[in-house]
Amino acid sequence: MRVAVVGAGVVGAAVAAGLTRRGAEVTLYERSEPGAGTSGTSVAWINSNNKDPEHYFALNHAAVQAHHALAKGGGDWFFPTGNLECAAGEEHRARLEERVGKLEARGYPVRRVTAAEARELEPDLIQPDSADYAFFPEEAHTYPISLLGRFLGEARDGGAQVVTGAEVREISSSAGGAGLTFADGRTESADTVVTCTGRWTQELAASAGITVPMLDPRVSGATTNGYLGVTTPVPARLSRVLHTDGLNLRPDGAGRIHLQALDLDGTADPVLDPPAVIGAGMLERLSRVLALTEGARMEHVRVGLRAIPADGLTVTGFADPHARIYVAATHSGITLSALLADEVAGEVHGAESAMLGPFRPARFGAR
Ligand SMILES: Cc1cc2nc3c(=O)[nH]c(=O)nc-3n(C[C@H](O)[C@H](O)[C@H](O)COP(=O)(O)OP(=O)(O)OC[C@H]3O[C@@H](n4cnc5c(N)ncnc54)[C@H](O)[C@@H]3O)c2cc1C
Repeated sequence: MRVAVVGAGVVGAAVAAGLTRRGAEVTLYERSEPGAGTSGTSVAWINSNNKDPEHYFALNHAAVQAHHALAKGGGDWFFPTGNLECAAGEEHRARLEERVGKLEARGYPVRRVTAAEARELEPDLIQPDSADYAFFPEEAHTYPISLLGRFLGEARDGGAQVVTGAEVREISSSAGGAGLTFADGRTESADTVVTCTGRWTQELAASAGITVPMLDPRVSGATTNGYLGVTTPVPARLSRVLHTDGLNLRPDGAGRIHLQALDLDGTADPVLDPPAVIGAGMLERLSRVLALTEGARMEHVRVGLRAIPADGLTVTGFADPHARIYVAATHSGITLSALLADEVAGEVHGAESAMLGPFRPARFGAR
């Protein structure tokens, strides 16, 4: 089977890898370079911590387990060190308590821990003894570009061609196959096209008369747009994803720390550079959360633009009457990638996935 995958973010690379596992002849087309979209700016926390409804939680939880299976206990892109959450303020404590109860009822691995146990996990943590602490041992983090490289490597080893600088303007389908028209006027054909174009999915799907509404970062504000900061290397110990009242952290390699402060995201703009006050605010919070970070500076602060289907949930499935155009678009694509690799590839080969059943594009009246 000849399959054209459009978009070399983490989702497209994972799907390309999954397709080559099944023996498909894959060409992966990317407008710019791999990782140029949302996958280059992601917290990359692998989790099903706060996901609703139940079937979306189950999908993400299966995906967390798929990452562990993919890395087989190793893997230089994967850090299975869990997530520690520290709630000091009243409002955060109430939210954490409610979420932990719900996750326990769902059978999701979570452990309430004491302040002393939290400091055993993260010795440089500065938080009051009176805070509430929860540890999520199955969760993990990755470096998104390393994960992308993992999938692209597998796809290329399996014979996939990766074509960069190839912008697909239009896709089409007929009973006999699928067609692609590129920005330079060139055309190609395939048995199936899989669109993995993240926040650009709506435009490309529309070229084939398919409706997949995505949130628009120009109007949706903090729902899609978020600041992400990376510090210069610091001598603080940090081994895992850490959530605190005003700051979310994870290691970012060689002593760098990746920072997110969700309450600051209101001004995150898809075009304008982040104001200096954002990085300064993140650093000030960091110095109150982790010892030995006083000398940290910001290496950069960027605005990440989430790819979110209009109802917040994953979109996976054939979307044209001839079952030649398959759409895969989702938020939490870092978490979901390891699962989508196999499930989407299976569906393209005719094996319907029960887990993907609730996420069909037809819910938008796809055509
Ligand atoms: C601030 C922030 C925090 C996040 N935190 C997490 C997290 O902790 N955990 C998690 O799981 N997820 C997280 N995410 C979400 C996750 O990063 C994304 O869901 C994921 O990266 C999306 O990958 P993708 O491959 O679908 O899209 P993208 O990475 O955007 O890839 C799409 C690719 O398609 C290409 N393309 C588009 N149109 C065309 C065309 N017409 N022709 C050719 N190529 C085209 C683009 O150039 C791009 O490279 C976060 C995102 C943000 C912004």
